[in-house]
Parts: sequence; C-alpha cells; structure tokens
Amino acid sequence: MLCKGPAVLEAPEQFTVLGLPVHLLNDYGNWLGSRLSQGIGTHVITLNAEMTIQAERHETLAQIIRQSELVIPDGAGIILYLRLRGQRRRRCPGIELAESLLQQAAQWGASCPVFFYGGAPGVAAQAVKNWQEQLPQLAIQGVTDGYISEEAQQELQHTLQKKQPRLILVGLGVPRQELWIAQHRHLCPQATWMGIGGSFDIWAGNKSRAPAWLGDNHLEWLYRLYQEPWRWRRMMALPHFALKALAQLRA
Ligand code: UDP
Repeated sequence: MLCKGPAVLEAPEQFTVLGLPVHLLNDYGNWLGSRLSQGIGTHVITLNAEMTIQAERHETLAQIIRQSELVIPDGAGIILYLRLRGQRRRRCPGIELAESLLQQAAQWGASCPVFFYGGAPGVAAQAVKNWQEQLPQLAIQGVTDGYISEEAQQELQHTLQKKQPRLILVGLGVPRQELWIAQHRHLCPQATWMGIGGSFDIWAGNKSRAPAWLGDNHLEWLYRLYQEPWRWRRMMALPHFALKALAQLRA
C-alpha cells in the first residue's frame, strides 16, 4: 500500500565536486519524504571529502555515486568547495536527514515500514528501542547487525524481498554500505535506501555527535578524531581533498 504524502518535486539542481555530483536543494527532507511516501526507489549518498577521495581510487564507488538519485552535501569540505565556486549552501548532515525520514515514516505508520541494517551486534537493536520510545507509531519491520554470516546474509536478503520495507537504513561504513545498497536495491525497488555510517552508534547512545559550535565552524571532523584517534589515517583524505580542490579552482 502506498503511503500518503506530498507530490513528487522537481529533479534537484546538480553541481560537480571533483568529478562527482552533489544535489542542491533547500529542503532535502521534504524532497526525499515525497519520494518515500510515493514509493519511488531512491539511493541517498552522503558526500564528504573522505568519500570523494575514496571514489578517486574506487571506480565502482564513483559510479554508484554518479548513478544515485540524491547526493547530499554532508561534509564541511563539500560546503567550503561549493562556497569557493560561488554557491552558498548549508550542510545537510546525513544523520539529520535520516532522522527527518524516520519522523516522516512514523507519521505514515504501518504503510511506511522501516528496516535497520548495520553496526556491532546489539547496537541497531538499541537504536530501534530508543526510536520506538520517541516515535511509538514508527513501524520497524526488522533489524540486523552488520557482522553476520553468509547464511544470515542470504536470510536478510530474503526477508527484505518478502517484507518490502520502504525505508532501509544501512550503517556499514563507507564504501561497504554504498556497494551493498547498489547490489541489493533491486530487492525492494520502491524503497529509499540510505548509507548512514555510524548513526546507529549515536542513536544507541554509544557515541555522541560533535557539539553544535564545532559543526558550525566546520570542525566536526576534529571531534571525530578526538573520539576515534585511529581515524587519523583515513582523515589524511581531508588535506588531500583541500589541495585537489584548490588546484582545480586555480586551474
Ligand atoms: N560496520 C558494520 N559492519 C562492518 C564494518 C563496520 O556494521 O563490517 C559498522 C560499524 O559498527 C559502525 C559503522 O559501520 O557502526 C561505521 O561507522 P563509521 O562512523 O566509521 O562510518 P563512516 O565514517 O565510514 O561513514
């Protein structure tokens, strides 16, 4: 059964960041909620500097980003790049967009069921409990952690095909979640699929987001480095992105 919701909005304006698309909208939640409500299959990519640099070395990831229906400017680096190209835009953090989708799905109740996949054992299940306390009307159809056997993976795919959830949030980290969604989205063609990184950890209460003032000053990455120092190697992508962006702008 189709959920109720506003009419489908126009295709979003597209901008290119180091060869990858990013879509520019004033209200991502509304645009996506409209597609969610009407069962228009969508893959949402949360683009940041790290992912942009990964995609340079990973052609399949780059192709998936180019083919997805919505690429949001999740990272501060993307926003700074857009600003240097004369586009003043606000960040759209993936976790906030996913929260907006859950709130909209809750309004539509059983006609917009949700599935959580990813995170360490027990984490997404705890996130489900916390969401159900906040949004009792939210119809969570299933939850599976991100460290399952091959057999359980087959079972998960069978469940998705059988139950046809409308919103599928996948927290396996980049690029695993993007590759997994691209491979499996045919199982639920009417669903909105979104890779959400470590959002289950935050919703479960195991990790916290950076204070707003750090986010406002484009320094959320510094807080992540403080919380997870092992990320330093991955974060070398940030200066790499900055140098490439500046070189391109100068050219
Ligand atoms: N994860 C998972 N299965 C794996 C590897 C990772 O479920 O095989 C989960 C991990 O538990 C964490 C998330 O993926 O919850 C990765 O979070 P991170 O913040 O590192 O995501 P990224 O920065 O890559 O978006």
